[in-house]
Amino acid sequence: MEKNITLLPGDGIGPEIVDETVKLFDAVANKFGHKFNYNSHLIGGIAIDEVGDPLPEETLGACLEADAILMGAVGGPKWDDPTAKVRPEQGLLRIRKELAVFANIRPVKVFDALAHASPLRPEIVTGVDIVFVRELTGGIYFGTPRGREERDGQRVGYDTMIYSESEIERILRIGFELARGRRKKLTSVDKANVLTTMQVWREIAHEVKNDYPDVEYEDILVDAMAMYLVNNPKDFDVVVTGNMFGDILSDEASMITGSLGMLPSASMGKAGSVGLFEPSHGSAPDIAGTGKANPLATMMSGAMLMRLNLGLEAEADAIEKAIDDVLAAGYRTADIGGGDDSLSTTAMGDKVIEMLEKAD
Ligand code: NAD
Repeated sequence: MEKNITLLPGDGIGPEIVDETVKLFDAVANKFGHKFNYNSHLIGGIAIDEVGDPLPEETLGACLEADAILMGAVGGPKWDDPTAKVRPEQGLLRIRKELAVFANIRPVKVFDALAHASPLRPEIVTGVDIVFVRELTGGIYFGTPRGREERDGQRVGYDTMIYSESEIERILRIGFELARGRRKKLTSVDKANVLTTMQVWREIAHEVKNDYPDVEYEDILVDAMAMYLVNNPKDFDVVVTGNMFGDILSDEASMITGSLGMLPSASMGKAGSVGLFEPSHGSAPDIAGTGKANPLATMMSGAMLMRLNLGLEAEADAIEKAIDDVLAAGYRTADIGGGDDSLSTTAMGDKVIEMLEKAD
């Protein structure tokens, strides 16, 4: 298979972690007999510096034509002035909009070897393997009317939570399809006891579930879900939520693993369209250029890219197994407790590739 992958390294540690993932892709290509062609483009702060636009037209064009897109991260203190007209995050928001990615998929997996890194007790977190599917382009973050005004001499602010049938249906279908390839359980999170929007959400969810009789289904209220996530996170397989609830719950869940450097993510649009694959963390300017960045979240995003965008399931499994093996063998970067024996970004990348090449 020959595929074109657009790379958007971005700022801070972005180029370092994307480089390691490209090395890994080359090793995958070698092992499985594929050819990956790469083209690298500007996004974020570096794009502002070089061409004055956080998402240059050339970058957007390359993304729209790509078979898959791997991104590092954008932003940093140099571009942090909140009053600036042009900011790195604008590039990120625009690329998501242009690619029409409406589903944010965030796996939260606790590796056995890292269970002690969690702020929760190891017996609670060992074995946790959840995939959050968060609706990304609708709900209260985008609903109108919204605004602020004065009423009876007081400042008031308001937003609108709104979801249409088609928005609810398409995000649930993504969740059900993912659940089918996993442990076949789907949890739909809502607040149907209070919010009309969420009563519609639940109604549609119950209609969609009829098409997936092989998947176990449950409704959970968002407040209860916040408790269950710290109480019994092993209970969950695929969790589907609206935009705001997913924003909050996926951040809560990410803390279960204890390290930002271990969390991949994917943003997907309609079936067959190109997605955006990136780590969940930011550009970590405090460690950029020091060789301390953990490349594993980006490498795991690379595994998601193989599976979800290129349909290369065995290749994705091989990447994930190599990472598992590296951690089980005790190799660590500084952020996951490597201490004096911490591996650098490139040394960790090399170890994963070594494990991948060694595996049958
Ligand atoms: P951050 O995720 O960049 O860093 C938070 C902390 O985690 C830092 O101490 C950092 O060193 C550490 N960390 C993050 N990733 C790591 C890795 N792979 N290996 C080792 N340690 C890692 O969040 P922040 O400091 O709040 O933001 C820094 C910049 O990144 C800001 O400009 C912010 O706007 C931007 N940001 C970008 C994205 C994105 O591109 N999607 C997401 C979040 C933040």
